[in-house]
Amino acid sequence: MMDVILVMNAGSSSIKFALYPADSDTRMALVQGKIAGIGSAPDFIISKSGEYHLHEDELESIEASATHAELTIRLLDWIQAHTAGFSLRAVGHRVVHGGRSFAAPVVIDPDIMNELETLVSLAPLHQPNNLAVCQAIARRHPGLPQVACFDTSFHRTQPRLSQLFALPRAMTDAGIIRYGFHGLSYEYIASILPEIAGSVAEQRVIVAHLGNGSSMCAMKNRQSVASTMGFTALEGLMMGRRCGTLDAGVVLHMMEQMGMNSQEVTDLLYRQSGLLGVSGISNDMHVLEGSSDPHAREAVNLYCHRAATQLASLVCTIDGLDALVFTAGIGENSALVRRKICEKLSWLGVSLDGDDNEANATQISDDASSVRVHVIPTDEEAVIVKAVREAID
Ligand code: ADP
Repeated sequence: MMDVILVMNAGSSSIKFALYPADSDTRMALVQGKIAGIGSAPDFIISKSGEYHLHEDELESIEASATHAELTIRLLDWIQAHTAGFSLRAVGHRVVHGGRSFAAPVVIDPDIMNELETLVSLAPLHQPNNLAVCQAIARRHPGLPQVACFDTSFHRTQPRLSQLFALPRAMTDAGIIRYGFHGLSYEYIASILPEIAGSVAEQRVIVAHLGNGSSMCAMKNRQSVASTMGFTALEGLMMGRRCGTLDAGVVLHMMEQMGMNSQEVTDLLYRQSGLLGVSGISNDMHVLEGSSDPHAREAVNLYCHRAATQLASLVCTIDGLDALVFTAGIGENSALVRRKICEKLSWLGVSLDGDDNEANATQISDDASSVRVHVIPTDEEAVIVKAVREAID
């Protein structure tokens, strides 16, 4: 029997999962996959090892309305039935919100669970799913160690001014501050950057996590100094379906003058805006890049314009820029987006090698560039599994 660690990453309509050996420091998963379409048409996609495919009759027995908790139980059943040589040793979870107090991963016990529940109001779309998955596993496997790893923790090193809104102090005291997200991705890049960039890794670095959700983080000494995402995962860059930074007056106008209720505004800002809203075609950058429709082109251009201008504001927080790292689906794969963003940063001394950029090479800046530009695939699961291994050691 091999002891294994299960890593769970529960999003609003999907759960990504992976199994890793417990007694090794490998970043390679034994099995990984995704339950997609939660709430509409759940589907198990096992993306590694041909041995582990879900049979059609098993899929058919899953209700369309199955919840995150119910599907977690189905996943545990599936692991038990299809991975005979594995023994579940511990579970690691990506948890969106750790509030002010969780600056590191934590082993979940009933007191911690109560504390995490108090943070649901800060991330109502995501935190309940994260906690429902933890609770379902605890019911099935009481006593199995479960470790929560937070998307906000990495940013707790930020200076106070990066975390404050210009709101009355009572609001700040009530927790209305800029928490920052995508912390597990930034932590992974920070951990691997010295191997790629040497001592530059400790200098003034901006990491651009450009995926369906997009944000940037400014670092010094591989610690977060500022980020574009704030109180929620809505602030900052334009995203696949989210608008990013928006004059708060627009929200008031929608509610007071246009008669929209909070549910309608939430849906508009989180699901109907961003690349999808501006293009009217798709939230998917790859699709938009392949389209000749002028609205698709405008959406891509706006994405890059807003990324470059917000990157420039982060440069102020670290007094300059020595390295820029692109990561996540768009950052790792879109030469066009990287080129358009970097063209707007020539005044900072950024200059790309066109061929290396097209090839998604690890270093894409040319010799003349005063800023090193890298493309580094992120691996949030690697950060979670490392934390679990340390917790159960
Ligand atoms: P998530 O936030 O859901 O994890 P990802 O990091 O997987 O998102 O990024 C998804 C985005 O990456 C999509 O917009 C997709 O179109 C984009 N993407 C993936 N491959 C390419 C590519 N070759 N060219 C352009 N965009 C790409």
